[in-house]
Amino acid sequence: MEIVAILIITILLVLGMPKVKGFIGEASVRLYLYRLDKEKYKVFNDVLIPLPNRKTSQIDHVVVSPYGIFVIETKNYKGWIYGDSKRKYWTQVIYKHKEKLYNPIWQNYGHIKALQEYLGIEKDEIYHSIISFSTRATLKKVDPGDSKSSVIYSSRIVSTINAHKQVVLTTKEAQQIGMKLEKTLNAAGDKKKQHIKNIKDTQRFNQYKINANMCPKCGSDLVERKGKYGNFVGCSNYPTCKFVGKTKQANM
Ligand SMILES: [Zn+2]
Repeated sequence: MEIVAILIITILLVLGMPKVKGFIGEASVRLYLYRLDKEKYKVFNDVLIPLPNRKTSQIDHVVVSPYGIFVIETKNYKGWIYGDSKRKYWTQVIYKHKEKLYNPIWQNYGHIKALQEYLGIEKDEIYHSIISFSTRATLKKVDPGDSKSSVIYSSRIVSTINAHKQVVLTTKEAQQIGMKLEKTLNAAGDKKKQHIKNIKDTQRFNQYKINANMCPKCGSDLVERKGKYGNFVGCSNYPTCKFVGKTKQANM
């Protein structure tokens, strides 16, 4: 009985952690987007758009279709949300406590700008901005004004997208955009792989030097030493250089 109680409390605590909350918020939008007609809509999650300053712009979801490009920012705030298109900060009221959040319409506008630049397609009319709040929040007084952004609950994401019926891209154009977005996903994966490869290359090169009896740190000769836990190599330049490593390895 006690164990069950502890388990329930633990689960509740884990679910309450901000990272987990964010993940759940994003995951549910991902699931909703799964319901879109796959023939017409191509969904990209967690898109990293490269920026000219070598930074990246992270977009939660991008949906490409003949009806345009839907750029979706998900928000997982709790409490009452107030804001409009013109104010720099919106307000979250929770337990009589006020917090401010950067205007998500402006934030998503930045994402669209980055996407426009990356795709080389300026036309504003093909981009649709959607700010999706989880149902944990209550959108009290949220006015998108003339920003053309939709500020909605995540449960309405599919109907909001489906409401756009005007064809603004040819099937071929939509495909080309999709291919270009595919590249950003691959590039993000490649970066991770490259990072791992760099670490492995360094390790391999260090081992190569050790096998050549050269200290990888300072280039001095290495000497075999005996320690409590077996043999190892150390730098002959000790104590100036404190390099120690495993003895020569035949397999590299
Ligand atoms: Zn050394």
